[in-house]
Amino acid sequence: MRKKFFLIHCLIAGIVLISCTQKEKFDTIIRNGMIYDGNGDEPYKGDIGINADTIAFIGDLSNASAKKEVDAKGNAVAPGFIDTHSHHAGSNLFQHRDLIAAVSQGITTIIIGQDGGSNFPLSDFYKKLNDTAVAVNIGSYSGHNTLRDSVLGKDYKRFATQQEIDKMKILLQQDMEAGAFGLSTGLEYDPGIYSSNDEILQLAKVVTPFSGRYISHIRSEDRYFWKAIDEVITIGKEAKIPVQVSHIKLAMHNIWGKADSLLALFDAARKSGIDITADIYPYAFWNSTIKVLFPNRNFSDEKEADLILKEITLPEDIILGSYEVNPAYAGKSLAEIAKLENKTPARMLVELIARIDEWEKKNGRECQENIMATSMSEADIIKLMKWPHTNICSDGSSAGTHPRGYGAFTRVLGKYVNKEKALTMQQAIHKMTGLSAQQMGIKRRGLIKTGYFADLVIFNPETVSDEATVAEPHKLSEGIETVWVNGKIIFENKKTTELYPGKIIKRQSQN
Ligand SMILES: [Zn+2]
Repeated sequence: MRKKFFLIHCLIAGIVLISCTQKEKFDTIIRNGMIYDGNGDEPYKGDIGINADTIAFIGDLSNASAKKEVDAKGNAVAPGFIDTHSHHAGSNLFQHRDLIAAVSQGITTIIIGQDGGSNFPLSDFYKKLNDTAVAVNIGSYSGHNTLRDSVLGKDYKRFATQQEIDKMKILLQQDMEAGAFGLSTGLEYDPGIYSSNDEILQLAKVVTPFSGRYISHIRSEDRYFWKAIDEVITIGKEAKIPVQVSHIKLAMHNIWGKADSLLALFDAARKSGIDITADIYPYAFWNSTIKVLFPNRNFSDEKEADLILKEITLPEDIILGSYEVNPAYAGKSLAEIAKLENKTPARMLVELIARIDEWEKKNGRECQENIMATSMSEADIIKLMKWPHTNICSDGSSAGTHPRGYGAFTRVLGKYVNKEKALTMQQAIHKMTGLSAQQMGIKRRGLIKTGYFADLVIFNPETVSDEATVAEPHKLSEGIETVWVNGKIIFENKKTTELYPGKIIKRQSQN
């Protein structure tokens, strides 16, 4: 009872930053930090008291004590970062429960099931996650490619019949009942690339009565960009649900410089009542399968390859991340490989893909391959990042070859805040926390506020930086000092603590 009274007292006191006079004990006190509350407001100096998994007090705790006290003097204290487009929970999630790639950059919540690919059925995954918790909180979308694959199987290079769409709807409904945030699509990938607009719209409407959302790797990030944007806006309008464009980018030379036109389109849509938002990662190069370069699936067309290498990315700007056909090519650019084999880059590109198909036929399984390709402009990245409805994501994975898996969030703070001053520190933190929670519909996370879950990160605002590069994609960031998830420290002294306090985050109505 006394504790409850004290809590109320402190809640009121917290608002006006009066000190707690009683010598109350907390589980944890973080002292003297510069508190960035996640709302985008100016930081202020203060202490934070944590009890169990919750922020119990914010203000002056000089008269209180705790079992664990942490001095954050000179450092920033922010809500733990929320990664709204993560691939960190890969197939080896339960072997690597500490998720060091994510937590070492301050991430405390990851939203998976992206690009149309999700754990299926979601209820089974959640059961497993319930039995074997991991270091971070996890929420998930239900992936269209996964649903389509389980209904259409290998016969997917066509529109689905109404009967097949109806089957997908039932599976999606089941995932929504299990707590999925909504529907995710990856329309540049198999098998989603063969779907009609109507198939996606019908499925999107399934999530409407659940207060679900739509998140999309849109149909094209280059050649058919405007049509793809049109599709996502239409879904928001017709299905009447919030829609988010995943890892927004202008990834073709002839659409560079069009960030303003794109944002004007988004703003007009928002004005008309469509809740459209975006997330972005802070790199000018992407990472995907090599086949994504050919939206018309004409992989042997050298003319098409020529166009790609002029308009989308240059031969020296495509780097093979992995290539199981010939692992020695990993880390080399297309230009280098073409030179080695004495071929034109276009010929080489076509052959690299043909060799993947041959390899897969011979080995009877999917060939590991991925490329990193530079095809965005810095000026566009900054404009898109600054849009008030864009939050930060990593699109990264724990085992990936793109440095975003280990460095996306710290790169925003080091490069785009400290070096380039494109965002203020409080704006950047808002885009990693409060805004992200709002755009995913997550309650009680994303802010430093009494009654919120104690997901927190202490970092050095001056030295924070990403260290991961293409050559060393798994190098840990600098400046991230201590990370809490649900009141437990999961990362300190550049090491994980082998605690697994992460919770399953279900769609807001079930939170
Ligand atoms: Zn994607």
